[in-house]
Parts: sequence; C-alpha cells; structure tokens
Amino acid sequence: NRRWLLASRPEGEPKAADFRMEEAPVPEPGAGELLIRTIYLSLDPYMRGRMSDAKSYAAPVPIGGVLEGETVGEVVVSNHPDYAVGDVVLNRIGWQSFGLSDGTGLRKLDPGAAPISTALGVLGMPGLTAYAGLKNIGQPKEGETVVVAAASGAVGSVVGQIAKIRGARAVGIAGGPEKCAFVKDELGFDAVIDHRAPDFAAQLAAACPDGIDVYFENVSGKVFDAVFPLFNPFARMPVCGTIAFYNATSFPEMETKVPALMRAILTKRIRIQGFIVYDFAADYPDFARDMAGWIADGHVTYREDIVDGLDRAPVAFMGLLKGGNFGKLVVKVGQD
Ligand code: NDP
Repeated sequence: NRRWLLASRPEGEPKAADFRMEEAPVPEPGAGELLIRTIYLSLDPYMRGRMSDAKSYAAPVPIGGVLEGETVGEVVVSNHPDYAVGDVVLNRIGWQSFGLSDGTGLRKLDPGAAPISTALGVLGMPGLTAYAGLKNIGQPKEGETVVVAAASGAVGSVVGQIAKIRGARAVGIAGGPEKCAFVKDELGFDAVIDHRAPDFAAQLAAACPDGIDVYFENVSGKVFDAVFPLFNPFARMPVCGTIAFYNATSFPEMETKVPALMRAILTKRIRIQGFIVYDFAADYPDFARDMAGWIADGHVTYREDIVDGLDRAPVAFMGLLKGGNFGKLVVKVGQD
C-alpha cells in the first residue's frame, strides 16, 4: 500500500519536502469491513487548509498522517452485507492505494451511468458546490449578470453553465488564452477575461455593461477588487473560496479598504454569505437529478485533468494552487 503522508506543515507554498511517500502493508478488513483499492483520487484546493493547523471548519491532518481526499475505488474484499467484490464506491480513502471502510459515508456508483471519475467532479462535490451556492445564495435571475473566476475549473465551469441555464449572462475569468478560449467556446460563457491581462479591471468593466448581480467568489485578491465597484444594488456574493490567499503567510493591509467596502455593502444592500458545500447536503438528490439531465442534454459539459500515478499527486496539487491544472484535477492511481 503506497501512501502520501504529511511530512511537515507548509510555510507559504507547499514544497516537495512537505510530503512523504510510505510503503505500508495492505490493511486486513475486519468483521463488517471492506478493503477498497483506489482508482481515482480527487485533488482539491481545500486540502491546503488541511495541511495547516490554523483554526478552520475542519480538523487538520496530523503530521505523519495520510493526506485526506475523496476517492473512487473498487471493493476488493467485502465483509459487509451491502457491498460485493467489484463494486465501485465513492469514499474518502485519502492519498493512498488501499483503504478500509465500515460502509459509513460510502456511496455505490453505477459505472454504466457516467464515467466513474465524474463522481469527484461535475457529478460530485465541486458540482454540488456550484449548484447549491447559486441556488441558495447567488439566486441568479433571467437577464442578470453572473461573474465567476477559476472559470475553467471544477466549480467555476459549472457555475457559469448553470447561470446560462437560468437565463443569466455568464462572465468568466480565467488564467491564460487556452483556458479563456475553452470557457467561451466549449462552456458557452458570454464573455471571458484573462486575469493576467494588465488592463484586467477595465476589461471586466467592459464585459459587464449592466453591472454585476451575482459574483461567485472563488479566488478573492485582485479579482474581487475589480468586481466590487461593479456590483449592482441588491447584488449577491456567495463566498466559496479565496484561493489567491491559500498560500499566504500574511494578508495585505486591509484597514484602509474596510470602511469603503462596508459603506458600499450598506448603500447597495449587497448580500455576502460564505458556505461550505456540506451545509447544502440536502440539495444532493435534486442536484444529482438535474446535473445528470443537463449533461445528457448537452447543457453542461465538463473537462477533467487526469494525472497518471499516485507518485505525481504532490506536484499536481502544488500546481492546482497556481493554475497548473486545466479542468477538474484527478489522479489515476495505478495497481501498486
Ligand atoms: P479549480 O479546478 O478551479 O482549480 C483552481 C484554479 O484557481 C486554478 O486552476 C486557477 O485557475 C485559479 N487560481 C489560482 N490562484 C488564482 C489567483 N490568484 N487568481 C485567480 N485565479 C486563481 O478548483 P476548484 O473548482 O476545485 O475550486 C475553486 C474554488 O472553490 C476554490 O477556491 C476552492 O477552495 C473552492 N471550493 C469551495 C468549496 C466550499 O465548500 N466552499 C467546495 C469546493 C471548492 P486560472 O488558471 O484560471 O487562474
């Protein structure tokens, strides 16, 4: 059983030495337990938070612990009445090639219904994040303008496509010409802007001639700075992520900004609400039904960035935090 452990807590950007690969015996399932072989490991930005011991909504991975992560795997031994050898299941084995489960939190997947890797992306946690964040907080209406950054990624790509389904105008922000072309041409956003452009803020303003009604916050930083002056009265801002600062060791000076922000929030009656996807777990059945339908009828398309081999997980993860991925980042774990 090969597995990646947290060797040290990163200072700023994670580095190779913060991860340690270990060979351990394949665990033996006890009574009522399953042995699962990992096929796909999901890599997600929240894992940066788990590597740190700063106070958060979830406990950190301990030093020397197996890094956490959602996985799709195959049951190879079953002592559990509800699961058979060969069943494909979604669970949280983490960054390792084998793991045990007593069935808690496990979901059986139907490999005939959709590619099994999509349970980690468009049909899984990131898809639900986009769906529920828009439904419960963003609430886009017909004709409104919805802006989202990291628009070629797992969450952002779905945000823009659902905004379109709801009759809104979708404006995406992405890094580099290749991602921007994909967001406009393949995902069907109405406009897209490269956040690396020197005149990014002016381009965003030009792409939002009627202002911004919903800003789905994935990144913060200079993207938020450019969005904020464009908010319309009664705009909504689901705060989903702030990836621009996940590696930050200190925050830029904010004192001068806060009073102006608060005044604008007040006078424009802007609603800002943070959320964690599992706050909206009850939306899962509706999401699963709607998303399967939208994929089938072509309203939603998705892109996966599949990295081959568990040994490459740390490098892929370090890239995710600075735009190295192109689509939902997933590691294909070999039979080792
Ligand atoms: P993505 O697949 O979108 O990958 C991350 C992307 O973020 C990168 O590819 C890069 O895209 C972009 N990015 C990184 N740094 C910056 C920056 N400084 N400025 C602008 N863009 C940047 O990841 P996900 O879709 O999985 O996650 C997107 C966001 O959603 C993250 O903030 C994540 O933490 C959050 N999230 C929150 C959840 C919740 O429950 N609240 C659940 C799931 C995700 P590019 O090259 O285009 O800049």
